[in-house]
Formats: sequence, structure tokens, C-alpha cells
Amino acid sequence: MKAGIHPAYEEITVTCACGFSFKTRSTHKGDMRVEICSHCHPFFTGKQKLVDTEGRVDRFQRKYARSKQLAAEHEERQRRKRERSRR
Ligand SMILES: [Zn+2]
Repeated sequence: MKAGIHPAYEEITVTCACGFSFKTRSTHKGDMRVEICSHCHPFFTGKQKLVDTEGRVDRFQRKYARSKQLAAEHEERQRRKRERSRR
């Protein structure tokens, strides 16, 4: 190897949010933290699991709950309107 042109390639520890960690070699400086690894990713475990790294599921559920509420309110207004026109 030519001196002075290659980045340091040292052993680092990768730690996952699930608690699993392993050692590898990388040019990355210092240890790494990851959110998902081969021990907990659904592709490898074969289990269905929501991988929610940006709170997207939570955001969708809030939005969905809101739209269901609006639909219920609309339904209620329609029902009252029908009752009024019957009299
Ligand atoms: Zn993991």
C-alpha cells in the first residue's frame, strides 16, 4: 500500500438499538450506532414488525384518527339534517 493515501481502516463496534452489537472494520471514525440490524430486521427474523424510524406510523395514525373523527361529525350533521326535514 502506498503510504499517506489510505484512510485508517480500524476495528469498530457497531451497536444496534435492539441491543445487539458486533465488531467490524471500517474507515468510520469511532464506534457506530444503528437503528436496525440483521438480528432485528423483519427480513431476517421473518416476523412482522413495524420499523418506525421517523415517527411516520405515529403521524399517520394521528392523521387517520382525525379524518375518522371528521367523518363521524359529518355523518352526525347529515343525520340531524335528515331528521329535521322529516318533520
Ligand atoms: Zn438490531
